[in-house]
Amino acid sequence: MAEKTKIGIIICDRYRRCAGGKCLRALRNREGAFSIYADEEVELVGYTTCDGCPGGNIEYAGEEMVKNGATVIHLATGLVVGYPPCPYIATFKAFLENRYGVKVVVGTHPIPKKYLDMHTALGTWEDASWAPLLEPTLADPETRAAYD
Ligand code: SF4
Repeated sequence: MAEKTKIGIIICDRYRRCAGGKCLRALRNREGAFSIYADEEVELVGYTTCDGCPGGNIEYAGEEMVKNGATVIHLATGLVVGYPPCPYIATFKAFLENRYGVKVVVGTHPIPKKYLDMHTALGTWEDASWAPLLEPTLADPETRAAYD
């Protein structure tokens, strides 16, 4: 049997009470950023928050997840869709990749329609630098509506 890919998820602390419903559903359905595992077995080996701005838990959560076998860490979609989005996404990604040698994927579940609509109205994501951050979770209109 092929070995499972072990992943960790770090969410934005503003959503700290989130029970993970959308992320776990997307993981199960291989939707959003989890579509990269369409043909793979995946095991979630860690789930926690950044512990609030400026993300003091990124260091410790990353270490624990990697010790538990994670080879990929997902920064949850909430970091991208929050009002405002997390200003430290690039720092977190660079730190985790350089410090622990893991792959970091920005995003988990598909971006819900209501967030895309609001950020489009606000012009949040107009800068071209957002395109690669949105790409894993943009999904199609039907899927976005299903995650509202
Ligand atoms: S905005 Fe960024 S640093 Fe602040 S709580 Fe959310 S993920 Fe953490």
